[in-house]
Amino acid sequence: AILADQIAAGEVVERPASVVKELVENSIDAGSTQISITVEEAGLALIQVTDNGQGIAADEVKLAFRRHSTSKLVDRHDLFRIKTLGFRGEALPSIASVAEVILATAAIDGQGTQIRIRGGKQLEQKIIARPQGTQVQVKSLFFNTPARLKYLKSPQTELAVISDIVDRLALSHPEIAFSFKNNDRLLLQTAGNRNLQQTISAIYGIKNARQMLAIKNENLDFKVSGFVSLPKLTRATKNYISLLLNGRYIRNYQLANAVIKGYGSKLMVGRYPLAVIQIELDPVLVDVNVHPAKQEVRISKEEQLMQLITQTIYARIFQENL
Ligand code: ADP
Ligand code: MG
Repeated sequence: AILADQIAAGEVVERPASVVKELVENSIDAGSTQISITVEEAGLALIQVTDNGQGIAADEVKLAFRRHSTSKLVDRHDLFRIKTLGFRGEALPSIASVAEVILATAAIDGQGTQIRIRGGKQLEQKIIARPQGTQVQVKSLFFNTPARLKYLKSPQTELAVISDIVDRLALSHPEIAFSFKNNDRLLLQTAGNRNLQQTISAIYGIKNARQMLAIKNENLDFKVSGFVSLPKLTRATKNYISLLLNGRYIRNYQLANAVIKGYGSKLMVGRYPLAVIQIELDPVLVDVNVHPAKQEVRISKEEQLMQLITQTIYARIFQENL
């Protein structure tokens, strides 16, 4: 079983950022309103995610580390219909097969469990007192898979990738208060007050958020809303375009280009806007026949959606009379 977990880990756990993503998604699924992420040495020394979610009952803690024993099993094509982010039951066992994992959790205030697993082997389980919620600590990542370690980039790069993932998760959930620290340095804090503009401001800096224009439009199939920057924004990269499909962060080259196109000639060549675009659609229009962890999806009527995005942004910028 450990070998199967390690093979699954090859797909799920590519780098420290993938661990952060899986742990935070579990915290989101657990209904948390506060999620604190701490990493040390860009995640290689420690990745710690603490939440105030529903916790795991003592008799289910072991089960959480068994593959495909998810509490949320559904058909993978339901990905955009279901509310939970996890559904494969692979993340925890995969991570625990290539690292040391200490999970402390309580489903009821005060009545907690702590379990320690290293390289897929359980080292201890004990009763502890802790508030409701869960804390997962991941140490010695890839200690038993040196080939993985070798593929990692510099600590700065790995930290940047983690930071990027945390940003997207925070953007997708303005109702959750996120904090993110690396080696005791606070890198992000969001209020969790449901205000997307304030969340954007926490991530990209106050000045940029004040320059954001609200957009909103719809046609028969799609609703788009969110914020786009005025063209004068200069320090943005292509990474500053975030697409949220039914509340889930996705990567889509065509749609990102539709955003850029919306600026027409207002955007200088080589410049990028800051844009957070929320797209709502019937999940039957989403095709998830790609790896679910990779955030890539296909959308039917994509052409129409692209046009809607481009026209909406174009009209909004035009309205500003720049
Ligand atoms: P999945 O998310 O696909 O169900 P995971 O391996 O990520 O699989 O997690 C396994 C199970 O452990 C989850 O289904 C959930 O029941 C439980 N779990 C993991 N993390 C948490 C958490 N932070 N809070 C509550 N339950 C959790
Ligand atoms: Mg999960």
